Amino acid sequence: MSWEDNVRKVTPYVAGEQPKKENVIKLNTNECPYPPAPGVAKLAARMEWDRLRLYPDPDASVLVNALAKYYHVSPKQVFAGVGSDDVLSMAFLTFFHGGKPILFPDITYSFYDVWAELYGIPYKTCALDQEFHIRPGDYRQPNGGVIFPNPNAPTGVFESLDVAEQILMDNRDVVVIVDEAYVDFGGESALPLLKKYDNLLVVQTFSKSRSMAGLRIGFCIGSEKMIGYLNDVKFSVNSYTLNLPSQILGAEAVRDDAYFKSVTGRIVATRERVKGELKKLGFSFPDSRANFIFAAHEAIPAGQIFQALRENDIYVRHWDRPRISNSLRITIGTDEQMDRLLDFLGRYVAGYGKCGASRIHAGT
Ligand SMILES: *Cc1c(COP(=O)(O)O)cnc(C)c1O
Repeated sequence: MSWEDNVRKVTPYVAGEQPKKENVIKLNTNECPYPPAPGVAKLAARMEWDRLRLYPDPDASVLVNALAKYYHVSPKQVFAGVGSDDVLSMAFLTFFHGGKPILFPDITYSFYDVWAELYGIPYKTCALDQEFHIRPGDYRQPNGGVIFPNPNAPTGVFESLDVAEQILMDNRDVVVIVDEAYVDFGGESALPLLKKYDNLLVVQTFSKSRSMAGLRIGFCIGSEKMIGYLNDVKFSVNSYTLNLPSQILGAEAVRDDAYFKSVTGRIVATRERVKGELKKLGFSFPDSRANFIFAAHEAIPAGQIFQALRENDIYVRHWDRPRISNSLRITIGTDEQMDRLLDFLGRYVAGYGKCGASRIHAGT
């Protein structure tokens, strides 16, 4: 007998690399290349640091109220957490407590099966079709809950709200979570469906479209009853999840809608341009509505391109997993960053097969 026999053993989620090197082109974790709203830095400079002596508001009211106002819901329908990973983890713990397996797509955010394993929640994956679309009929089987991202990760594929509603209609007796981490880049939020479905939970984050991955802010919106249950669990784990600066600065970011729209608009414009350029280089991909493109090359294995990029200080994401091992997930950066990526890829693709191709340098 050893103390190790009593350890809860888990296989953790593997996050994208955060390189320690300076001056790399970082397109591997879907961060925003633009700074947070200007008011955020101004407010941070005027912060009353003495307040850090005190615990923060356990209800994160400033942030919750700002979000409620922005999304036209009651503050009682909003729950905030330490990134949407915290919100999702709490939601798994709270709502997926039946005996039946929860359902999610076979290709999706790779944290879902980690939480399911951690909390002992049985789960079953439903295969996306050849074009990486959800087949709503798959979700018409006995289950303990449903979760899917929309747009999906890492594919970028967006499902129309008809698909979301079909799944909700077929699953009135369980909680259906729509993870909208990327919805601000041209998707359509399921929030209006809240009026019809009290079993819907919509989860969003400040990490991608609001340029605040470093502050760790996520939130969800659902029926008052659902948010009540979520709070009961949260207050049984840790009362003070969101720190004071995150609450105050997050609320400030929500108030600057013009900046938010301009940043997401710029990323969408860059994405559309890069789609055209990647096609010219022999890449194909499902049509993305997120801040990344999931691209496969017609002739060159993704693993090789990934390595060549990395050696030239351009970081993208690659998974050695069934159905997706030949694709690279490329985050949309600034126009300049994308031009450097495209420039490298152009020379790499042209030189592929000829000797020394992997020694091409990214240049400036
Ligand atoms: C990035 C991401 C999240 C979590 O992001 P946080 O930084 O924890 O808010 C959740 N779901 C999906 C699908 C994501 O891609």
